[in-house]
Amino acid sequence: RTSRPAPSRPAPSRSAQSLPRTVSAELGVPTVHRTVTDYANFDHGATTPALVSVAEAVRTTERRYGSVHRGAGYASRVTTAWFEAARAEVASFVGARPGDEVVFTRNTTDALRLLAHCLPQNTQVFAWESAHHAALLPWPEERTTRLPVPGSAEHAVRLLREALRHTDAEHTLVVITGACNVTGEIWPVAELSAVARKFGARTVLDAAQYAPHVPLDIDALDVDWVAFSGHKLYAPYGAGVLAGRRDWLDAADPYLPAGGATIRVRRERTDWQTGPARHEGGTPNATGAIAIAAACAALRANRATIEAHEAQLYARLSAGLSAIDGVRIVSALGDRPNVGVVTFTVEGYDPSLVSQVLADEHAIAVRDGRFCAHLLCDAIVGDGASAVRASLGLATTGEHVDRLITGVRRLVEDGP
Ligand code: PLP
Repeated sequence: RTSRPAPSRPAPSRSAQSLPRTVSAELGVPTVHRTVTDYANFDHGATTPALVSVAEAVRTTERRYGSVHRGAGYASRVTTAWFEAARAEVASFVGARPGDEVVFTRNTTDALRLLAHCLPQNTQVFAWESAHHAALLPWPEERTTRLPVPGSAEHAVRLLREALRHTDAEHTLVVITGACNVTGEIWPVAELSAVARKFGARTVLDAAQYAPHVPLDIDALDVDWVAFSGHKLYAPYGAGVLAGRRDWLDAADPYLPAGGATIRVRRERTDWQTGPARHEGGTPNATGAIAIAAACAALRANRATIEAHEAQLYARLSAGLSAIDGVRIVSALGDRPNVGVVTFTVEGYDPSLVSQVLADEHAIAVRDGRFCAHLLCDAIVGDGASAVRASLGLATTGEHVDRLITGVRRLVEDGP
């Protein structure tokens, strides 16, 4: 047996230094450059490119990995140490309180589904109709109250207060969106959790769009759980996080009843683990967890730079697009801080045509559609209507913003 200690995080590999870099390198937070042309990436709201530091962590992990929490070999012990160090990094990233736990999941959808699985009997759930389907649909239908799409942050708070005043459920859970995936508006999370707390309700924060852009502190926000995805946080697909209070999680049946989740299996009964292992049955996506942690570390270390970069681009983008005749920017809450999303329609043009023209003629990636938020789109875009979403991030530059504005202006002025 070797006595070499297991390093707590992957050391950068030499080959990673040859990765091509984007302009985000100038910001100190480089992303992996994936295209031949300088494609303008305005689809960060869907999935982000990996950070170079994340790609390095993945490559290093993949050069030496072994079974997590199962083997005595060196690779196994190293991988286990990296996996648990990743959990600790994520706990710091979310501002976890003592006793909180971090469960690695597949994505936000899976993290919220896991919490839904853990709800105690007779829990009443409250969710706004504006939520992403991942946050709207996993809860038991007969015990879910849908609050209408609010017209302002104050309206959202009022709607919640009224709803909670009239409930006498034994347990209550309020589902809060951190930042809206359609409008980019940041919700009044602390105000909503304060109302929930006043009425003895618990809260879960869907931070899929919030975590990549805004410092996350579940202690300061006073939310009970937070969920987010690695692939929206400059890490690869296939890993996400549910972090927060452990009591409901420890009391529930294991989410993935399998190896790793058991203490002892007997003929007559099975004893299950508590803590994250209870719900992480089977071999975990350790590479995904390590990648998320690398992204969390990079974002934490560069928050101020990232926020300044995104705020400046967002101001330029929203001002430029709203100055074009026939462009309508959609909004639900009105004047709110924004994570860098502008969703718009162009009078007389189908949103899918707008996005195709931008892609084919200007090398710009946007998304058109209804963004897995049908009830919100019905309310703020139009019944059954879709729109174009431009969501910026670390792979977006000022030139990209100008190119997008020019592309839309040309379409309006000259036709397709
Ligand atoms: N919540 C919000 C606000 C989102 O924007 C998304 C994805 O777009 C999700 C949840 C679901 O994330 P995932 O597809 O990674 O599970």
